[in-house]
Amino acid sequence: LPIVAIVGRPNVGKSMLVNRLAGEQDAIVYDEPGVTRDRTYRSAFWQDRDFSVVDTGGLVFDDDTEFLPLIREQVMLALSEACAAIFVVDGQAGLTGGDQTIAEWLREQSVPVILAVNKCESEQQGLMQASEFWELGLGEPFPMSAIHGSGTGELLDELITHIPTVDTLPETDEIKVAIVGRPNVGKSSLLNALVGETRAIVSPISGTTRDAIDTLVERNGKTFRLIDTAGIRKKKNVEFGPEFFGINRAFKAIRRADVVLFVIDVLDGVTEQDQKLAGRIAEEGRACVVVVNKWDAVEKDSYTIYDHQKILKDRLYFVDWAEMIFTSAINGQRVPKVFDLVETAAEQHQRRVSTAVINEVIEDAIKWHSPPTSRQGRQGKIYYGTQVRSQPPTIVLFVNDSQRFNENYRRYMESQFRQQLDFSGTPIRILWRSKK
Ligand code: GDP
Repeated sequence: LPIVAIVGRPNVGKSMLVNRLAGEQDAIVYDEPGVTRDRTYRSAFWQDRDFSVVDTGGLVFDDDTEFLPLIREQVMLALSEACAAIFVVDGQAGLTGGDQTIAEWLREQSVPVILAVNKCESEQQGLMQASEFWELGLGEPFPMSAIHGSGTGELLDELITHIPTVDTLPETDEIKVAIVGRPNVGKSSLLNALVGETRAIVSPISGTTRDAIDTLVERNGKTFRLIDTAGIRKKKNVEFGPEFFGINRAFKAIRRADVVLFVIDVLDGVTEQDQKLAGRIAEEGRACVVVVNKWDAVEKDSYTIYDHQKILKDRLYFVDWAEMIFTSAINGQRVPKVFDLVETAAEQHQRRVSTAVINEVIEDAIKWHSPPTSRQGRQGKIYYGTQVRSQPPTIVLFVNDSQRFNENYRRYMESQFRQQLDFSGTPIRILWRSKK
């Protein structure tokens, strides 16, 4: 959904306005500056437009306690993804220096700004109170009252002129799955086995191009879209030789997928081509389940599976976070379990972790292993972290100087997030941002 950021000084009534727009009266209203406060997204609509509103915490400029840059950072993050901002000012308090500073700063952004003059309960006085805010140079001030709801209609009418219509169908919760792997690893056999496991087969559906045919299947109340199944069924082109395995087709499927079923032939192990595919899956940030197929053809004792697991994981380091399952597509062994792993991976891929929890992990991690110190004796400092997006989960860490955090420490931090928060089956991204 398009995002609308709500900005303004503390206590001007931002949270109240968010509640008004999102139409939930029972939500807790709070409005105070805070460091690790989450940006909460609430959905709203007006006429034919759907959007999310995000409250950004109080902006204060004329107070220079050390947290203020961090609050500003939060607002910046929200604005970077927003299609419009509502700048809330207090009509009763009148124009303040803080408002001026915020306005100056908002004028430098490319985001359209709607000026909401809140606490204008009386219509006549409201117009007078609002007129003062023309001075901010942000266009027409809209007098309104978040408590009474008066004036919000005009505000929203103006707002939605800046919100794009969503002309695609609403996002369904189907899980898009790409089955990729070298020729002869058993992709089409696996496809047939997977489809055979499902209750309802919703006939093949054509995808974006004429020859990309997806298959929709249902299992445990979930819909899975198996991507480009025509490409999997089609027999290989002999004339291209063994090197050709439709890698472009595989790359395209990976890009469209939420979860990649990465099929490997246990008899061949992990080849160079497999490593290329693994690298691409990680690069594209897709969730992944490694399906080690033809397990029936392996002679085994009770240790075999662990031995294989270890060797394969080592060679598949690009996707070493992926769950691995040993299957036989021809006799159906563990095929039903594949769906469960896909579901879990998709959930983890979409997961959002609260800022509070992320900061607990950081705090613990620092206690065990403090950040490196530079040659000049300055220590790396992590101020706080926050998840800025999902699919894949992406965490921004705000630090004093990102260069002080070497590869070792970065890897340590990532492993801490994984250990504490799981994220099995999905890559995660950690961005290190320096702040002056
Ligand atoms: P694709 O090219 O990846 O689609 O592979 P196919 O599904 O066409 O399978 C290639 C060959 O491997 C065929 O001869 C299959 O019968 C065989 N095969 C596929 N899955 C298995 C399996 O689980 N066990 C064994 N033993 N053979 C398999």
